[in-house]
Amino acid sequence: MRVTEIRELSVPLEGNISNAVVNFAEHTVSLVAVLTDVVRDGRQVIGLAFNSIGRFAQGGIIRDRVIPRMMAAGTDALLDAEGSGFDPAKVLATAMRNEKPGGHGDRAGAVGALELAFWDLNAKLRGEPAWVTIARHFGTTPQEAMPVYAAGGYYYGTGGAGQLRDELLRYRDMGFDAYKMKIGGASLADDVRRIEEALTVAGDGSRLAVDANGRFGFDEAIAYADAIRPFGLRWYEEIGDPLDYDLNRRVAECYDGPIATGENLFSAVDTRNLLRHGGMRPGRDVFQMDAGISYGLVEYGRMIALMEEHGFDRRFAFPHGGHMINLHIVVGMGLGGCEAYPGVFQPFGGYAAECRLVGSRVVPGASPGFGLEAKDDLRPAIAHLLN
Ligand code: MG
Repeated sequence: MRVTEIRELSVPLEGNISNAVVNFAEHTVSLVAVLTDVVRDGRQVIGLAFNSIGRFAQGGIIRDRVIPRMMAAGTDALLDAEGSGFDPAKVLATAMRNEKPGGHGDRAGAVGALELAFWDLNAKLRGEPAWVTIARHFGTTPQEAMPVYAAGGYYYGTGGAGQLRDELLRYRDMGFDAYKMKIGGASLADDVRRIEEALTVAGDGSRLAVDANGRFGFDEAIAYADAIRPFGLRWYEEIGDPLDYDLNRRVAECYDGPIATGENLFSAVDTRNLLRHGGMRPGRDVFQMDAGISYGLVEYGRMIALMEEHGFDRRFAFPHGGHMINLHIVVGMGLGGCEAYPGVFQPFGGYAAECRLVGSRVVPGASPGFGLEAKDDLRPAIAHLLN
């Protein structure tokens, strides 16, 4: 068994939507393929993955630094103990050769996309869905149907009143009964009106989360906390700068409702600092680190272990990024649940048709690996990368 080539393709995200901080019209995602000389059922076995949604493609780092290291190391240096698959910890260590500690950022997404492609490859070599491979690796007992909520409620470039309600109604028609929307991109008064509009669909505050995308300083964070407290919302997400742990702690001291954060932490060390200094409360607050933008699943496993060392239950981990890869990770590691982007962030957002939504829970399909090839709108990008 040999890795013959590793490729990367930068794929633009579709749509023109915004949160409080960024517009996604220029965003791209790195789709990575690990090609092998293994043939199963007449087809070459290829590992596929991408870094997460809402960041940028990392083709430069992947092509200039990561792929040359992987190819120079050779396949034997990457194999697991049985020699029948790849050791993702060796993949991570090889990809990070000659990189200094710290400086997490775009590098973490570049390595994450590559490392996850090896998980896809491992699952395909065994002919099983990735969540089965992940559960075996981490020794977890997976629950196949996981809670899922529809993440949306963005600020649209065009359109008027009622658009948010219409969007959430579309998700409800698809079978979702929990939602997340953006705040902080309008005035507090306008956002309160938007929350009230969303609640006409969600019904109860416990079915609606709000996400400020790191926009607020302390005073604004508290003004919003005071305004949303009566709604009893599911959680108040990424309130201030993701690395301002003290701000998170101070808000947690003033706001009884659940707080969620972590999607912009790119390493286990960042996560440890959040656990030490962020004032996160076990049994209440939610962690959203995302393997695709933080060096992949080996590093993500370290983050979950740190959470548990600090007294947190892994069912309070809801990874950022509503897509196929994180669905398999959530199922395989027995986390709390996942988000879905059913209407946006194509071709990566949402799930393949073979994934079923059953009573607001999502069940992955039976395709080997992460099942990316089973997602209709992603197939053209995969074909482009492989041809
Ligand atoms: Mg968020």
